[in-house]
Parts: sequence; structure tokens; C-alpha cells
Amino acid sequence: MRPGGVTVEDLLDAWLYEANPVPGCENCSAEKRKLDQAVAAGDRPARFAAAQSIRRCRHGTGA
Ligand SMILES: [Zn+2]
Repeated sequence: MRPGGVTVEDLLDAWLYEANPVPGCENCSAEKRKLDQAVAAGDRPARFAAAQSIRRCRHGTGA
């Protein structure tokens, strides 16, 4: 059953793959490229890994 066509997986996806790359951040732009490639390739694990890396990024404020 898929009421409204929205599955739990769809809702999880929205969170798992949420990514807000910061302009000017080298790590974010690199991961965003990976993310775009993973989306194009339909590679969900790679997509998740890239999104997660962006979420955990310190956006060049570290060190
Ligand atoms: Zn960043």
C-alpha cells in the first residue's frame, strides 16, 4: 500500500539526502559534485555518503 504515493522511504530520503552545500567551501563543492554524479547514476549509497559529508562539513571554519 502506498497512500498518496508517499512511502516511508520517500520521507527518509528527504532527510537522508538533504544537503546544503555552502558556496565557497571547498569540501562542500567537492561533495556536491559527488552528490550530483551519484544522483545522475542512481547511486543511492554514494548519494547518501555525499549528503552526509556535506551535513557534517565545518565549511572551512575548522583548523
Ligand atoms: Zn562545507
